[in-house]
Amino acid sequence: MEYVSTRGSAPALDFEGVTLAGLASDGGLYVPREWPRFSNDEIAALRGLPYAELAARVMQPFVGDSLTPERLLELTTAAYGRFAHAAVTPLVQLDERQWLLELFHGPTLAFKDVALQLLGLLFEEFLGRTGKSLTIVGATSGDTGSAAIDAVAGREGVEIFMLHPKGRVSDVQRRQMTSVRAPNVHNIAIEGSFDDAQGHVKRMFADPELTRRFHIGAVNSINWARLMAQVVYYFAAALQLGAPERKVAFSVPTGNFGDVFAGHVAAHMGLPIERLIVATNVNDILHRALSDGDYSTGEVTPTAAPSMDIQVSSNFERLLFDAGGRDGAALADQMRGFEASKAMRLTNAQRQGASELLTSARAEPSDMTEAMRWAREAACQIIDPHTAIALHAARAADLDSAVPIVTLATAHPAKFPDAVERATGQRPQLPARIGDLFAREERYDELPGDYAAVRAYIAERATPAA
Ligand SMILES: *Cc1c(COP(=O)(O)O)cnc(C)c1O
Repeated sequence: MEYVSTRGSAPALDFEGVTLAGLASDGGLYVPREWPRFSNDEIAALRGLPYAELAARVMQPFVGDSLTPERLLELTTAAYGRFAHAAVTPLVQLDERQWLLELFHGPTLAFKDVALQLLGLLFEEFLGRTGKSLTIVGATSGDTGSAAIDAVAGREGVEIFMLHPKGRVSDVQRRQMTSVRAPNVHNIAIEGSFDDAQGHVKRMFADPELTRRFHIGAVNSINWARLMAQVVYYFAAALQLGAPERKVAFSVPTGNFGDVFAGHVAAHMGLPIERLIVATNVNDILHRALSDGDYSTGEVTPTAAPSMDIQVSSNFERLLFDAGGRDGAALADQMRGFEASKAMRLTNAQRQGASELLTSARAEPSDMTEAMRWAREAACQIIDPHTAIALHAARAADLDSAVPIVTLATAHPAKFPDAVERATGQRPQLPARIGDLFAREERYDELPGDYAAVRAYIAERATPAA
């Protein structure tokens, strides 16, 4: 399988290449040159497989020659063996047509584990072949950092430097990062906001001296391998609900558009998806873009669902490329305009292509509270704020009543105990396997909010590229 950049001029790479590259050299994102397709018979034959086997079968066409089928299955078995639920992503019924797909049974209690547990193993595998080392630098508003740290802790050839905005992530989120004791994990609490921290990281990727000395990599969802791993649970859920004979809809709490783009990929591979609902909170740039063609950034309003509090949705570029006719040169122009003015209009082709599968919805804080209460009263389910936003959109969706709607439950409620307790009166408990989180010792360094300090910190500690 060959991968091309959404901006048309970076060299095509194979799966191993895109996994280690992250962003393409022309500033674009890598996507497969074409979507692999499964026939209905091939989809039906996937029914009933254990999750790790389903994962290997769905991902094999994307992996191509980079891994043998046997080796891929070994890696998915190891990655998903670390989940606390035997079904890995169990499906829970709420009422006659609403379902929850629980994606939070991994080590750090958010759906990001599904992709990052595998990505950690892929890094180790591909780096081991070349003897090279990889220095991952990232900024987190909470969930990505802990999932990435857990995924690479103790792995060969890779080290991670994770910046979090000091005092602005929840105690659970911070402790999940800072209580990991592996020598290849470096936690930095930095003064300023998440956007400031993200700004330092972006600057590092463009810093010629740093990039000459170190092989710097990314773990955010611009990495293709992450999206690929997320395609699998769309298959898992749809197969249980009757695919390929019966169509299914999904409602997805959306931030960087990674998770919902994986649904777009599943549909293009032949999975019969009736609709993908892009659920946003009041930070609604994606809702404006999909309903009105207006992709323009504003101020971020902090909400109870922090992983959806975004201005610019990095994976949206992949949709614009695919839905808009795959014209890399034109998209490069469009994105340059957006980067300069922080606003753009979607083309008619992009809007039309997107609307074949996607609709969007914006939830107010009161909608979120109401959805949490409904889930508790109707189905005895305690759900997290992100999941609640998507469940609100699912319940409001205008769809044929015969189509089941699956809401992606992206985080365990105990990651956001205060918001859940405010809405439902019930305080969710951490699962027993991490019940001692607040007794674990933390380890992290604090840095002032300036680039020179972060740069010096990393330059002193990182492993030089081989
Ligand atoms: C990251 C995250 C999201 C948003 O996912 P994207 O792939 O960025 O759209 C939603 N919910 C939770 C709990 C998350 O951690």
